[in-house]
Amino acid sequence: MTTSSFDSSAYIFECCCGERFNNVAAASVCKKCRSYSVWGYTKYVINTETDAVVHGELPTDEEYKSQEAIAEKRWAEEQAEWQQQREEDERRWWEQQEAAAKATAAAAVEAAEDRLWAIQDKMLGHV
Ligand SMILES: [Zn+2]
Repeated sequence: MTTSSFDSSAYIFECCCGERFNNVAAASVCKKCRSYSVWGYTKYVINTETDAVVHGELPTDEEYKSQEAIAEKRWAEEQAEWQQQREEDERRWWEQQEAAAKATAAAAVEAAEDRLWAIQDKMLGHV
């Protein structure tokens, strides 16, 4: 009986964020783990064929729970920061719109004044 367990193209290595890789080296530096895993880095990589930990180490349930709490706090902070940034951007956008509208209005007033002066000049026979 043959097995494809050691087929190098098989994506059997799973990092702690659940991404699959065909080699441990790539799995151990998974970029997604930084954002998506509670650890903020690749804590461990598992060979899904054998369930063996091939990089790092598995956390205990307690470790995971306490880290999860920390990560959730961090994610909430990031979310709040992102939200604040978005509101700031929006406020700036509205300020720009307002400034642009004012500039347009001022230009319109100026143009109207120019026209009035021209009419007045004409009426007074200056032209
Ligand atoms: Zn990952």
